[in-house]
Amino acid sequence: MAIRTADEYKKSLRDGRRVYIRGQKVDDITKHPILGVTVDTIAAGYELTASKDPAVRDLFVAPHPKTGEPVNRYFITPKNKEDLANRTKMIQRSIEIIGGLPFGKDIGTDCLNAAFVVAGQMGKKQYQDNAVNFLEHLRKNDLHTCGAVTCVKGDRSKEPSKQKHPDYYLHVVDKNKEGIVVKGAKIHITSAPAANEIIVVPTRQMREDEGDYAVSFAIPANTKGITFICRGGRGTWSDHEFHADRPVRELTEAIIIFDNVFVPWERVFMCGEWQYSMLLAYTFATFHRFTAISYKVPAVEVMAGCAVAMAKYNGLDKVGHIRDKLADIAAYVETLRALTNAAANDPVMYGDIAVPNPLIANMAKLHFASKYHAFVELIQDIGGGILATAPDKKDWENPDIHDYLEHYLGGADKYSTLDRLKMIHEAMRHVCSHESAFHEVTTVHAEGSMAAQKMMILVESPLQRYEMMAMAAAGIISSKQH
Ligand SMILES: Cc1cc2nc3c(=O)[nH]c(=O)nc-3n(C[C@H](O)[C@H](O)[C@H](O)COP(=O)(O)OP(=O)(O)OC[C@H]3O[C@@H](n4cnc5c(N)ncnc54)[C@H](O)[C@@H]3O)c2cc1C
Repeated sequence: MAIRTADEYKKSLRDGRRVYIRGQKVDDITKHPILGVTVDTIAAGYELTASKDPAVRDLFVAPHPKTGEPVNRYFITPKNKEDLANRTKMIQRSIEIIGGLPFGKDIGTDCLNAAFVVAGQMGKKQYQDNAVNFLEHLRKNDLHTCGAVTCVKGDRSKEPSKQKHPDYYLHVVDKNKEGIVVKGAKIHITSAPAANEIIVVPTRQMREDEGDYAVSFAIPANTKGITFICRGGRGTWSDHEFHADRPVRELTEAIIIFDNVFVPWERVFMCGEWQYSMLLAYTFATFHRFTAISYKVPAVEVMAGCAVAMAKYNGLDKVGHIRDKLADIAAYVETLRALTNAAANDPVMYGDIAVPNPLIANMAKLHFASKYHAFVELIQDIGGGILATAPDKKDWENPDIHDYLEHYLGGADKYSTLDRLKMIHEAMRHVCSHESAFHEVTTVHAEGSMAAQKMMILVESPLQRYEMMAMAAAGIISSKQH
């Protein structure tokens, strides 16, 4: 069963997992009005691997490197720039085809790829074998994974061992011959309630006295002691919305509580090796920011398209200041695309594993996050106040008022009022809605804060080279010295 069907995936979620949302315990998440949307979003990924279109199927399915058996391409550990470019292509196509975020396997494999790199650097055969065996388990059963990295962290100014209680960071509380017992909570974990396997990675660098916090492992979602407390999402479309026939795509995040959870040794990738915790967190962040910038390209393309279309519907597409704004919009999107491709094209090799270029991946994520709100403002500006005040589909359908709306809400002659209204509603989703506010915060924090990206940019940039060049230019050192 190397490639599952959407139904097989859904069935696998009825496994006794402990899930709460809006204060209620949910026994079957596939039938829940909010969590069912998450399940369907992930299930759509299984439709890509089952696609009848060979161009789609060949992108999402790859031969197992040893057996040749078909496996999900997310489970191909990147060995070169082509593998990284394929990962970008997969993520982008999945958004184009199914709409919405694709995180069915991405974050989990970002964690696992980082665990591979670090197991190799540690030279610990047991961890390397564990990572290989776990990857084979994912390949064989085509499992959905989530990546649990972010700890709740308590007082951010204090290290894990200096907090009011020891559980603000996930840690080992016991060990025996069979395995380890862990306690703590991971927060904001995308699609966690609908995952088959949770992959845990430390949230930060740990110090010598924090060995118990330097822990990484994988565990099934229905393991005893695990509870998911989920964000309430939007649920399905209402009949007030235009284009309500398309599926909503959303992935609910959850706090995952680990209440003395037993993890067998064969599922452990790090336990106590605090010296490698930074490499693990850092390598995960690089893989994950690369995933992020890949999916953000098609996301911002649609938003940019709303601005282009609204300029036309409003009859302003030839006007100077609007064209100036469209140029800024295009530059934002294309800079992101260029950096994403560059990060894949210039990987850093750890043994035989290709890690996306860390400097470029962080620059791309910083570009995306730091300029996103200005990008949104440009779309709001071009669209006009109607993005905040538009009537909804029910108004349009009411014969008492329909003709007023048709008559008064037209724009440029060559477009129908209905198409203008549909485009207004699409733009509203992205720049004036509950969903758009969610994305504004997500942009700043998901995949790490901007401070985290700047920290990695400083580590990876040749600051000393810049300085030497300036010193040579100033005549302080000879130009031959740099
Ligand atoms: C929608 C969404 C989905 C997510 N999905 C996942 C996921 O699937 N898996 C996962 O593991 N995580 C996920 N995250 C978590 C994300 O990585 C974190 O939000 C991010 O790392 C910031 O952490 P935080 O939210 O705890 O914010 P905080 O750490 O509280 O940061 C708030 C501010 O404080 C600053 N700050 C924090 N600590 C310090 C310090 N010690 N010194 C100086 N400044 C500091 C930060 O730079 C930031 O400016 C997701 C987040 C969102 C919003």
